[in-house]
Amino acid sequence: MNIMKFGGTSVGSAERMMAVARLAASYPGTKIIVLSAMSGTTNNLLEIADYLTKKNTDAAHEKINLLEKKYRTVAGELFTEAQARKAALELLKDHFSYIRSFTRDLFTSNELKCIVAQGELLSTALFELYCRENGVDAVMLPALNFMRIDREQEPDQFYIKENLQREMEKYPGKTFFITQGFICRNAFGEIDNLKRGGSDYSASLIGVAINASAIQIWTDIDGFHDNDPRYVQNTHAIAELSFDEAAELAYFGAKILHPSTILPAKVAGIPVIIKNTLDPEAAGSAITDKVSGKGIKAIAAKDGITAIRVKSGRMLLAYGFMRKVFEVFEIYKTPIDMITTSEISISLTIDDTTRLSRIVDDLKHYGSVETDHDQTIISAVGEGIAEGSDAARLVFTALSGIPVRMISYGGSQHNISILIPSSFKSQALNALSAHLFNH
Ligand code: ASP
Ligand code: MG
Repeated sequence: MNIMKFGGTSVGSAERMMAVARLAASYPGTKIIVLSAMSGTTNNLLEIADYLTKKNTDAAHEKINLLEKKYRTVAGELFTEAQARKAALELLKDHFSYIRSFTRDLFTSNELKCIVAQGELLSTALFELYCRENGVDAVMLPALNFMRIDREQEPDQFYIKENLQREMEKYPGKTFFITQGFICRNAFGEIDNLKRGGSDYSASLIGVAINASAIQIWTDIDGFHDNDPRYVQNTHAIAELSFDEAAELAYFGAKILHPSTILPAKVAGIPVIIKNTLDPEAAGSAITDKVSGKGIKAIAAKDGITAIRVKSGRMLLAYGFMRKVFEVFEIYKTPIDMITTSEISISLTIDDTTRLSRIVDDLKHYGSVETDHDQTIISAVGEGIAEGSDAARLVFTALSGIPVRMISYGGSQHNISILIPSSFKSQALNALSAHLFNH
């Protein structure tokens, strides 16, 4: 059994949806097709929700009308036959009157999640109808019936497996299943989601739940590239990556994959294959437990980083200081990305600044605190590069002339990370590509 996940741009227009239906049908064997919302929709829905939060119902209505118009056009293009078109418009009517119902009620984060979930519910409903219209015996497996997170916001893998299997057993002999990425229920049974970009994570969790032979992530580029193609020309797709390499790249900024996707697949030993919907013949990237190649394989960059330095005279020869500092981040549930220490100070980085002012306030009990915003983590990734290889020298030679704020080396065998001001990002990425990959 295969999982085929298609992202927002892959289902971003009627034409693209048709292509996805053809592509999926051409793959042999049983498959579960996981779809994102059409590109732009999640943002549109969040914008609508934002107006509703601010009680600006006029603006919300305006945005809802615009979005509905867009979907009516898509439906018109997808369905030429009168009966099918009527069914599609009926379907849209249901979804949009549901969205409009929120313009009358109290609007909280629960209602926001119900609205945001409409993106994936719409794309899959239209896709199912289109497949059926075109003779594909497609079956919908509603994600809200099996995808679930627990009180810690972590996927409840046992529940997912039990309930997905139960859903599928309702359809013996069927081979073409469709479900929504991103959306789920929480521990209270309410509609929730796996955070932005979470459809990849859905695909991985589903793949693990049914012990799939592969988890295919279909996107609009031919795999992981060795550097960020938005900043560097002539980047190349990487044919093979290990789970660890892919996890580091996804976490440290490669936008191609949601960072949580790899871990469940790695634990279950299921390959993750990145494929390009616009060029299905291209090999893409295969992420497996196999280690291949030597040295630095790719560079990734993560923006929006804030560095915090805590300096304390009392840290000298003291123990317990680190624990107190880390505890502050734990209290405010804020993950730390990079850490470096000296005898009298510790520097760390975070990307979630929601609770920054309280964090800084608390840290002031233990030392003087400085923060630097607009920083970027640049990571060089490759299996074993932090063990007696030449990688560090190469990275620092390439970056000569760029102000480096922090260095993290040796924490992982597969990653060398440095922190620089974001204004130097493009220069740094290009210098690294020129130096490491000769382009
Ligand atoms: N539609 C959701 C988003 O835009 C989830 C996804 O596409 O992966 O974030
Ligand atoms: Mg995505």
